Amino acid sequence: MSGQRLILADHLVDGVDGNVKDKQGVLVSDGRIAAVGNREAVMKDTPPEIEAIDLGDVYLAPGLIDGHTHTSLAGDGRPYAEMFSETDEMMVLTGVMNLKVHLDAGITTVREHGARNMVGFALKEGLQRGYFPGPRMQVSGRPITCTGGHFHMCNEVADGEAEIRRSVRRLVHEGADYIKIMASGGGTAGTIPGRASYSVAELHAAVHEAHHFHRLTAAHCRAKESMVRAVEAGIDLMEHAEFLDPDDELRFDPNLAEKMAESGIWVSPTLQAWTRYYRIVELRERRDLGSLHLSEEEELKALEARMERRLDVMRKMLDYGMRDRIVPGTDSGVSRLAFGHLDYDLQLLVQVGFTPAEAFLSATRVSAEAIGMGDEIGTIEVGKAADLVALEGDPTQDVEACSRVAAVFLGGEQIS
Ligand SMILES: [Zn+2]
Repeated sequence: MSGQRLILADHLVDGVDGNVKDKQGVLVSDGRIAAVGNREAVMKDTPPEIEAIDLGDVYLAPGLIDGHTHTSLAGDGRPYAEMFSETDEMMVLTGVMNLKVHLDAGITTVREHGARNMVGFALKEGLQRGYFPGPRMQVSGRPITCTGGHFHMCNEVADGEAEIRRSVRRLVHEGADYIKIMASGGGTAGTIPGRASYSVAELHAAVHEAHHFHRLTAAHCRAKESMVRAVEAGIDLMEHAEFLDPDDELRFDPNLAEKMAESGIWVSPTLQAWTRYYRIVELRERRDLGSLHLSEEEELKALEARMERRLDVMRKMLDYGMRDRIVPGTDSGVSRLAFGHLDYDLQLLVQVGFTPAEAFLSATRVSAEAIGMGDEIGTIEVGKAADLVALEGDPTQDVEACSRVAAVFLGGEQIS
């Protein structure tokens, strides 16, 4: 990723605020943004021999960030047990496939939220060597989980504070960029999503040890009980945040929301995952073509009603001042969540009351801050990595523009 190039676009959203600027230029030098601003001014400061790419009538914006992926899983609808019956080698290949799909969709950074054995680390190493294309990657390595807990098949089981500290040390030694811990049950057979898996003391041991090594923490929290404990333990980022009770019902809790807001915890609500939004999109598209069977119409109605219950919890949470702490994440790889669709989560954020501009900023500047990369990515500013996406349409006015990707640049290199 060397050399200089000039990228020109009719419109630019730098991601610092929600404003659009017209007739802009970005000068890239050795993968980083060397200048950005009015096209004429940037061109004047650019040596004439520099290659210029004029993208024309597009909105050039910072690359998107997906805070929650499982790159080694195919997202093809098979249950966990079947996906994890594959070899590590096959899982690495699955990751290579998935990462390219995400990158082509304008997603230039991902967090890898838990793979088996060394699969996550191998994927990151392969990317860094340039063996295959993909977004920048932060890896957790393996998620820390209790005996029989969610994702225990990844092989980082730890019970009690001492074992948890040892797990964190091991993962950091192996190259983990952050620590993922499963604070409640989940989709793994035999676990209870509505129940916490760890005590406050156990979660705090993970946080304390991770922070000691300058690593951030993310906790899988479906259960309300686990959300309370995560906040108390000082977890940096809460995944899912469903307010789920042991009876599998979602029940919003204002006291908990207040504590979350006070604590400054980041929240990744993984809305498309819970709502099975891919299926809703699929059925709606067919309904618009007039080709829906009666049973499918009923399925759609039930899915939409179920989705509203989840979105309602989210709306209530936002009333407590959490709006600028929300980080979209796809949970791609699990269940039937195929890669390439952070746009779905942005659409759902708009449905819970975000403006399109706020939704866009949550997937760029806000996400970069939440994952500790605010100095490196998330906005188009001098000194940052030249990770850019060109969209056909204004993402600050129309959330669907995020689905219309015209070009992607990673470290200044044009990928697609
Ligand atoms: Zn997940």
